Amino acid sequence: MHKRLFIPGPTEVRKSNLEAMATPMIGHRFPEFDVLFKSTVEKVQKLLYTNNIIFVSTSSSTGLMEGAMRNCVSKRVLSCVNGAFSKRWAQIGEANGKEVDRLEVEWGKAIKPEMIDEKLKTGKYDAISIALNETSTGVYSPITEIAEVMKKYPDVIFMVDAVSCMAGTKIEVDKLGIDVVLAGVQKAFALPPGLAVAAISEKAMEKAKTVENRGYYFDFLVMKKYYDKWETPATPSISHIYALDKQMSYILEEGLDNRFNRHLKMAEYTRNWAKERGFTMFSEEGYHSPTVSCINNTKGFKVGDLNAFLAEKGAVISNGYGTLKEKTFRIAHMGDTQMSNMEELLSWIDEFLSK
Ligand SMILES: *Cc1c(COP(=O)(O)O)cnc(C)c1O
Repeated sequence: MHKRLFIPGPTEVRKSNLEAMATPMIGHRFPEFDVLFKSTVEKVQKLLYTNNIIFVSTSSSTGLMEGAMRNCVSKRVLSCVNGAFSKRWAQIGEANGKEVDRLEVEWGKAIKPEMIDEKLKTGKYDAISIALNETSTGVYSPITEIAEVMKKYPDVIFMVDAVSCMAGTKIEVDKLGIDVVLAGVQKAFALPPGLAVAAISEKAMEKAKTVENRGYYFDFLVMKKYYDKWETPATPSISHIYALDKQMSYILEEGLDNRFNRHLKMAEYTRNWAKERGFTMFSEEGYHSPTVSCINNTKGFKVGDLNAFLAEKGAVISNGYGTLKEKTFRIAHMGDTQMSNMEELLSWIDEFLSK
């Protein structure tokens, strides 16, 4: 039996989007492709409230994270680390020979604007990386306040990993002044894994022109050259782009505000459920993620036992990340998941807990 995915990626994919991936193939230099690509890009721009260019990358999100590090950092990057994925960005910088300083806070805590201000004041940095929605801890950092601070430092490239919240929360890229914001489509976009998207500012593109050794596959300047023809440098996963174009239509049809509100409501419902059962949240109060809840396993059950129980109902949730494996459990409420799915899931977990 198929298990409905309540894990923070991949998420459940609707059948018609799976079917879109079975569309007969076209060539990536055909005019038909340019039409498809342009249509997809324009819809993603709407989702992100931006006029910035949109790269569509045949890779997972990590590829674009590496691309951002290689293209946008020459002096020193401030990597804000509050969990596994933000840490990954620091590691990518180091692996690419960049000078990386980590701004580390305890897992479960948010990155606060004052901390960033304090560091950037030194003038040591030309870029900053942050994971807006730390999937490992269920923490959503205060992007609006952080963006305000960033406006004081116009020479610093603002790089945001929005992998597990893009298409689930409102990210007004132009208003916030984000230079690089990226995500894979297997999370809140609710598509199969294998494609990632990013919005890149003019400022980031200008910066890339000054950076050496940008690599080959993710060289932003080459990607832009092809983007200007509604194409990609190498052969993309055309099947995925068919599905993304279709899903973007569904998303815009639902209405962006409706979609974002649905995520907020499901998150609130999940947190209230946890609270009423005597659980506590792992994430800092006031900074809970709208797309994934990381809950302290205060009852000490085995997450594997819960999942074995849920498997019989046709569902699966996630254990904690890394060392948090049994200490927390994570419930994703993102993508095309509806409130009725959450009600059903949580009633099954109640059934498990009462045994
Ligand atoms: C899943 C995730 C990633 C990694 O994404 P891939 O698509 O697997 O490369 C990075 N950052 C965050 C916040 C994530 O949730």
